[in-house]
Amino acid sequence: MKKKKKTIHRKLLVSKKETFRHVYFLLAIVIFGFLVVQFINKYSAQKNNSTIFTFDEYSRGGGIFNRRLWKILKKTGDSNLVPVVFSGSRKTKKIALTFDADMTYSMRQNIISRVSKGAYDRRITYILQKTNTQATLFLTGLWIENYPEDAKILAKNPLFELANHSYSHPAFYGYCYGLSQIAKDGARKEIRLTQKLLKSVAGVEGIFFRFPGGCYSQKDVNVAESEGLVVVAWDVVGGDGFNYNAESIKRNVIDKTTNGSIIVLHMNGAPNAPRTADTLFEIIEQLKNKGFEFVKLSELLEF
Ligand SMILES: [Zn+2]
Repeated sequence: MKKKKKTIHRKLLVSKKETFRHVYFLLAIVIFGFLVVQFINKYSAQKNNSTIFTFDEYSRGGGIFNRRLWKILKKTGDSNLVPVVFSGSRKTKKIALTFDADMTYSMRQNIISRVSKGAYDRRITYILQKTNTQATLFLTGLWIENYPEDAKILAKNPLFELANHSYSHPAFYGYCYGLSQIAKDGARKEIRLTQKLLKSVAGVEGIFFRFPGGCYSQKDVNVAESEGLVVVAWDVVGGDGFNYNAESIKRNVIDKTTNGSIIVLHMNGAPNAPRTADTLFEIIEQLKNKGFEFVKLSELLEF
């Protein structure tokens, strides 16, 4: 009887030991899994952040974001270093007013069939000239084809700098404000066509590119970079697209502009940007009163 009890006790001890072994094993798996997840998170976070650089981040360590640095980045061939510029330096009161001249195939169709009056509100460039305000104009290829004489005139005006805003203003990546999806492998074509039009129509060698709606993947950024262009976004959204509330456009811009800001507005006029011209004079006046200096992108980014 006593012996039997002892064997049972021993058996229990063995199974307890085994249970511990199982627990240790499970624990090891959990810890390993945790470490793997941490690693993946860190790696993907680095990847996601890779497109977001600001001027001052580039300025760290003595380098500055300018044409020279751009060349170095291109030489390294490290796609993780290809940046999208959101602002200029926060250390000076320089800011850049930028206007997009959107044109999609359906906008062109609406102009041809006289559903809409056009896609260029000339009051905008008139106000810029009257107030002696520098600006950078991101033109789509379709817009240049529709307004070749205007593109030439704008190119000759030292107040303005022309840049590339794709050919037909499609969504380069994902859902993008209802814009039609870009053709498969169409990114390079969209960028190249407009680059050629800037040169052949306006005589300009553009250096900046902006994605329609600001929708892009790292792959798209790399394509633009390989075409020799610097991708520029914005940090102040005027919100003038299809917005009839001039006061809200004014507040969006004036309240959010800070040192080095890149402001995005549109030069299309109604129906795409119906109130931009109505609010532009006040925006310029108030920002100048706050001590800001309007410069072209190439000056803001020291190109
Ligand atoms: Zn646009």
